Amino acid sequence: MSRIRVAFWDPAGSRYGIPTYPWRLAPPHLLTLRQLAAEGLRPGGQGVQGQLLWRSRRHGAPGVRAAYLYDVRFALPKRTATPAQRAALGKANAARRTCPECLRDVGYVLPRHLGTCLDCAEGCAA
Ligand SMILES: [Zn+2]
Repeated sequence: MSRIRVAFWDPAGSRYGIPTYPWRLAPPHLLTLRQLAAEGLRPGGQGVQGQLLWRSRRHGAPGVRAAYLYDVRFALPKRTATPAQRAALGKANAARRTCPECLRDVGYVLPRHLGTCLDCAEGCAA
C-alpha cells in the first residue's frame, strides 16, 4: 500500500468522521450512487454510509476527491412512474398538441408564439 492509500484507509471513521476507504478498497456492500443506479437501485432513506477518497491529478481540479457510498443492503428499487403518472404525462403532452382553435390533436407540439396549429395560424394570416 502506498502512503496515500494508508492515509485514506479509515474503516472505523475515526479520522474522517465516516468510514473512509481508498479507491478500489471499499467493501463490496458499499456502492456509489452511480453503481447503485447501474443495479437499478437508489439509496432509499439511508444517509451516506462511507466515502471513497482519492487524490486526483485531473487538470484544473487537483486535490482530494470524494465519492459517497451507500449500503446496498438498505437500497431500494428505483422508482418507476405509476400508471396514473404516465396517464397524466400523456394527457399533458396531448394538451400541448391540441389546437385551441380547431380542437384537433395536430400531432406536433403547438408553437408557443402562435398558440394555435400551423393551419389555423395560416388561416388567420390570410
Ligand atoms: Zn388549429
